[in-house]
Amino acid sequence: MTEMLLKYFREQQKQVETERIYNTQCPYCSMQCKMQLVEQTNVKRKTYKTIGRDNPTSQGRLCIKGMNAHQHPLHKDRIQYPLLKVNGEFVKISWREALDYIKEHVTEIQEKNGADALGVYGSASITNEEAYLLGKFARVALKTKYIDYNGRLCMSAAASAASKTFGMDRGFTNSLQEIPFTECIMLAGTNIAECQPTIMPYFEKAKENGAFIIAIDPRETGTTKIADLHLKLKPGSDAALANGILKVIIEENYLDERFLQERVNGFEEVMQYVASLEFSVIEEITGVPLEKMYQAARMFGQRETGMIFTARGVEQQTDGSAAVQNFLNILLSVGKIGKPRCGYGAITGQGNGQGAREHGQKADQLPGYRSIENHEHRMYIADVWNIEEKDLPRKGVSAYEMIEKIHDGEIKGLFLVCSNPTVSNPNANFVKKAFEKLEFLVVADMFESETAKLANLILPASSYLEDEGTMTNVEGRVTLREASFPRRGEIKHDWEILCEIAKVLGKEEYFSFSSAEEIFNELRIASKGGIADYSGITYERLRAEKGILWPCRSLTDKGTERLFETRFAHSDGKAMMVPVSNQAIVPKAKITKKYPLYLTTGRVVSHYLTGVQTRKSASLSARNFESFMEIHPSTAKKYEISNQELVQIESSYGRIVVRSKFSEGIRPDTVFVPFHWADSQNVNNLVSEKLDPACKMPGFKVSAVNISPSVKRSSY
Ligand code: SF4
Repeated sequence: MTEMLLKYFREQQKQVETERIYNTQCPYCSMQCKMQLVEQTNVKRKTYKTIGRDNPTSQGRLCIKGMNAHQHPLHKDRIQYPLLKVNGEFVKISWREALDYIKEHVTEIQEKNGADALGVYGSASITNEEAYLLGKFARVALKTKYIDYNGRLCMSAAASAASKTFGMDRGFTNSLQEIPFTECIMLAGTNIAECQPTIMPYFEKAKENGAFIIAIDPRETGTTKIADLHLKLKPGSDAALANGILKVIIEENYLDERFLQERVNGFEEVMQYVASLEFSVIEEITGVPLEKMYQAARMFGQRETGMIFTARGVEQQTDGSAAVQNFLNILLSVGKIGKPRCGYGAITGQGNGQGAREHGQKADQLPGYRSIENHEHRMYIADVWNIEEKDLPRKGVSAYEMIEKIHDGEIKGLFLVCSNPTVSNPNANFVKKAFEKLEFLVVADMFESETAKLANLILPASSYLEDEGTMTNVEGRVTLREASFPRRGEIKHDWEILCEIAKVLGKEEYFSFSSAEEIFNELRIASKGGIADYSGITYERLRAEKGILWPCRSLTDKGTERLFETRFAHSDGKAMMVPVSNQAIVPKAKITKKYPLYLTTGRVVSHYLTGVQTRKSASLSARNFESFMEIHPSTAKKYEISNQELVQIESSYGRIVVRSKFSEGIRPDTVFVPFHWADSQNVNNLVSEKLDPACKMPGFKVSAVNISPSVKRSSY
């Protein structure tokens, strides 16, 4: 049999007539693994496979998502032509008709209701060039203040915490290369084994080298398996747990007093606040035994070097920004930053989670991480864009708040690029109703996502295989994603679409770009002198140097591998510590008699975001074709739920039905549901609309729910 198979494969191989290689980068997570699409053509058909390519970040590795990333762009359901909704059905129209339709509706809505009646909703999966251009498009072509993006639901808490603590936000303060040589690692609320699998070898190597790994998560995951100590906290209690660890560090004096004196403000206030807290209260809030807090603090305090990493588990809460700040308080208290093998990493989720938050897609931001409310910053960008400063709109509102304005009728039309907000936002039932109220919804996407189905007009957008541009990966390394795969039908790149719409709106002079590189060269100027300074980076350098870590301020600047070696980015050069309360200002869901279980949400290895792309991949969707609820068997017994049974989960916001999956590794008071599915499996139907006041992050990680078997059992 084996012989026969070998013979068959050899025959197949002989039949390969041509082979083409397309260099590109994975479209999914923030590792941005370099890859190659191999296209083989023989007499019968074309076949494709994706293989890894060497680079400084993923070192040639790919995970299951990357290996199958070619399946969705080649899928038969790709949108290839502009589609206009007529009598409830999408019909194919020409680009000319699509652009005329847009011009007519933009003009009509803005003449009747003002410029701010239109909004723009962007994405952290698009290139830096497109994120930059989208910000410019909103402010210069549409003249609206309403623009925000899906990264608000993902990275805003870490970004806000790093900006407040360090004075700047680059996700990783060090390059990944330092991880294997650090001696203690705290992984807070991150499941890298499923979310960024190719980063795992850095941590595994650290463990081989003797590092002590502390994982903080309510569940046992592939990531907690590599940990020496797992703090299985109650969902939502991260800030309190950090206070417990800090209290031990202070009590047992693992402090780096010289560092605190010379390089940090605010330590005294933190020390006083933490001293006022009772360990017994922290134990009660977190559910983590005191001896485990001691063990974590001792290992992190005593080891010479250490790093802390946070991700959505800590961040997606109504005090996410403060909770991250408290982990940074731990790092600063022991002086483990700004030197070799010491530092912080916010493990970004989306492919361009870093770059897309730097160049003007956010409601309050201009390119280079400039502030839209800062007069000097406004003057600089107005000059780059060749407009009057007074014509630059002011600050808008965050993603979910924009949706509230749609619901209230203040925003009547929306341009949506590469995002699926009716599934990804909290309180998803409300969000869908808001989108149904829009008079005018234009969506640029590859597929008819759940949100695109609600559009008046869908524009066919290119994929990562076709669309060249830069992406800034988890480290803050700017990389050039090459892309030369031929486009089908009348698909256009997002940047081309924006330029063409700007042209019909009479703004061609500001959007006369003919390549992504031309846009990048304008972005370089716009970012110059800003916090995220890309001015020294060119496409030529990116090709030659395999990526550059920003800031990179001149053509001879090699980029910045390690941040904060001599000063932090606040004007006095010092980092800022602030006391963080055990309790959030915006209260989190509490379990009650009616809703007696915590619900927390997250990802699985085979899917990405709301699954619009990965659900189109046969190999990936076969691994997880439906959602599920992870539950401890003892809890399931109490609710008379069997393994693999359909279960109804209900919160005060809505209800969903998913299949149960037993796990001994989850807290008995908590259930877990991934967020990659829509409609009756969309876990965001259960999540509250409450936002972190500091960064407007929704509290995805903590809801209170009740559960029951979906089908009532009859009694015999
Ligand atoms: Fe790499 Fe992330 Fe893509 Fe996996 S999903 S191949 S880890 S970029």
